[in-house]
Amino acid sequence: MSEHIRGASYRQGCRCSSCVARCRFDRWQQRQRNLALTQDAAARGETRVVDGTNHGIAGYRNKHCRCEVCRAANKAACAAYRQRRKAMADA
Ligand SMILES: [Zn+2]
Ligand SMILES: [Zn+2]
Repeated sequence: MSEHIRGASYRQGCRCSSCVARCRFDRWQQRQRNLALTQDAAARGETRVVDGTNHGIAGYRNKHCRCEVCRAANKAACAAYRQRRKAMADA
């Protein structure tokens, strides 16, 4: 466990346990926010597309974008995951 670098945050390179925890919490909070926005859009019968994101599996998972690119990436990732699981079960 490393010591906190005085005056630095996670973004500035500090990796002490409290900065790491703080960063994790911020990310989690952002995910919850994005998820809520996606659910709102779904409730209105809309598809959420996030501007300024890298569309693909990261957009799907991190930003909860539901555009065609992100959905296709998620489908591919799920299929690959199932394949891996199946290969492991068969082995
Ligand atoms: Zn720190
Ligand atoms: Zn997208």
